Amino acid sequence: MAKRALITGVTGQDGAYLTQLLCDKGYEVFGILRRSASSDVIGERLRWLGVLDRINLIDADLLDLGSLIRAFEQVHPDEVYNLAAQSFVKSSWNQPILTGQATGMGAVNVLESLRIVHPKARFYQASSSEMFGLIQEPVQNEKTPFYPRSPYAIAKLYAHWMTVNYRESFGIHASNGILFNHESPLRGIEFVTRRVTDAVARISLGLSRSLALGNVDASRDWGHARDYVKAMWLMLQQDEPDDYVVATGRTVTVREMCRIAFAHVGLNWEDHVEINQDLMRPAEVDVLLGDPSKAKAKLGWEPEASLEDLIAEMVDADIARHKGRLA
Ligand code: GDP
Repeated sequence: MAKRALITGVTGQDGAYLTQLLCDKGYEVFGILRRSASSDVIGERLRWLGVLDRINLIDADLLDLGSLIRAFEQVHPDEVYNLAAQSFVKSSWNQPILTGQATGMGAVNVLESLRIVHPKARFYQASSSEMFGLIQEPVQNEKTPFYPRSPYAIAKLYAHWMTVNYRESFGIHASNGILFNHESPLRGIEFVTRRVTDAVARISLGLSRSLALGNVDASRDWGHARDYVKAMWLMLQQDEPDDYVVATGRTVTVREMCRIAFAHVGLNWEDHVEINQDLMRPAEVDVLLGDPSKAKAKLGWEPEASLEDLIAEMVDADIARHKGRLA
């Protein structure tokens, strides 16, 4: 019988790539869909990857425990991936309570449903490199102490430790993937890589001239979401649950990422980028750099796409999108 997977956050970037991966592996995939007035566009990412008609969508919400319990009773999943969150760091200062509820407590609602209905299901929690925040070691691994710097990171830290606690308290097969930034053509437009690649596309097509950015000195370890969802799946195939850093081991400034993106279409980023103080954050995470050695050794996982490949794919996809709109 086909394995059954239940995914929260299925309409997001990682949800779409994970759905594709699991469908290709022969899983029956169920996704939790939060009702919204924009339901006509909500399946866009799944449609883009050609998997919208291969997934079963269930009407439920992370903040409504009863709806989650009913989803678990309906699906009886073998594997559960909790990818849902208020995932944008900057918004978390504007909506700290919602972020705490969705990103922090939402994970516990999923864990509770699993514990009540189907404690044998395996659980994946989308933990985040943002938990390292004000970094305590120059290269971060699973043993590096956390120092979160935003309401988002603090909520993620709570969910992270609750996942560890459910593993230790109830013997649940629960694993945290501490994923460093991961991007793709399906990345939300508010994140810096996508803001840049979309602007490069518009500028190269003559639709725009400039791009306003915040702190271009910040540095991130950026990988491809398509590679990172493979690590999620691998964690749930292990005999023992555990926590893993998923990263590339290379860090690059926003400035350098811009240079790569503009250079892909033969432009000089300094001719187009303006710094806007309103885009700075109340507290910044200056640099993140992950050490994925444990994931490599235990899961046999390695990233495939380089940052240059990733940015080129994103720029090309944004150019195609804008051309499609112009046609
Ligand atoms: P995050 O690492 O999850 O916060 O991912 P983001 O892509 O939102 O931000 C990555 C880094 O880029 C942060 O240090 C931001 O301060 C920096 N950054 C600089 N300009 C911008 C901008 O215009 N938008 C965003 N989202 N980030 C920016």
